[in-house]
Amino acid sequence: AKEQGRNHYQLYTHVIGMSVFEHAFMENSLRKALHHAEFRLFYQPQVELNSGQIIGMEALVRWQHPELGLLEPGKFIPQAEEYGLIVPLGEWVLRQACSQNKAWQDMGLLPIGMSVNFSVRQFQSPDFVETIAQVLEETGLDPKYLELEITESVVMKDEATAIALLQKLYKMGIQISIDDFGMGYSSFSHLKQFPVRKIKIDISFIRDINISSDDAAITTAIIAMAHSLKLKAIAEGVETMEQLNFLQSLKCDAIQGYLFSKPLPADEVTKMLVEKRAL
Ligand code: C2E
Ligand code: CA
Ligand code: CA
Ligand code: CA
Repeated sequence: AKEQGRNHYQLYTHVIGMSVFEHAFMENSLRKALHHAEFRLFYQPQVELNSGQIIGMEALVRWQHPELGLLEPGKFIPQAEEYGLIVPLGEWVLRQACSQNKAWQDMGLLPIGMSVNFSVRQFQSPDFVETIAQVLEETGLDPKYLELEITESVVMKDEATAIALLQKLYKMGIQISIDDFGMGYSSFSHLKQFPVRKIKIDISFIRDINISSDDAAITTAIIAMAHSLKLKAIAEGVETMEQLNFLQSLKCDAIQGYLFSKPLPADEVTKMLVEKRAL
């Protein structure tokens, strides 16, 4: 038992600031939360700049903790990844997001895309593709209304395998987008090999787009490159009209950010979609 304890300690010490006890507690709480259905999905609209229409939603998970209240993903996703719980949690997110999107379509609303975040750990799980196919079948959602958001780190370890997997998903009719674009390594060289449709420009470039000439130049280059590769560019974290105007002048395709809406619970999004609010 002593031996095992030490191994555990070594295994977990790289998550800073948590003791072995806190780790065990956190893992146990996450398991219970899955079991007791304490997770919730919030949705944030993606708005096309040409039309002003909502073209999609990004599903963002929250933990409705019985004592601590609503927790943001930064507080538990890294831990869920560490303990391997991201696979069952991710499957729950996927099922919930797809069934919600189907429910909106069944209400007669204009069909929109549903973007779901995927961690590297999920991507590496052996029944990744099968799970997605199964969820699509169960929920009845047309694959073209599902979009997987992946980061470049997905292809870092085993590039050939990762690209083959992405091709499979692409052939199933699922959309793939690159999240946090510009933050990974050698972003540009990878892009042409990916069967992607959209890149999401990282919030860190958008934040100071109107005051930093570097960030403006990088964003300009990313959008131009996206378009020359026939990809769509969407800007994340747009909070001001100044940012919006600048992105519009660059012919950025779409935006997501507090300027239009924060991530909201499903019932509030339903109201928004019914009213067909435009930008
Ligand atoms: P992300 O995928 O880059 O998601 C965008 C984050 O930016 C979200 O934070 C969103 O609430 C926030 N955001 C949107 N607009 C604005 C804005 O105008 N200003 C600012 N300051 N922030 C904005 P959130 O919901 O806390 O999610 C954080 C991260 O957690 C996500 O980053 C994603 O990496 C991860 N995540 C969320 N849900 C899931 C999930 O279901 N599965 C996995 N694997 N990861 C998830
Ligand atoms: Ca994302
Ligand atoms: Ca992002
Ligand atoms: Ca991120």
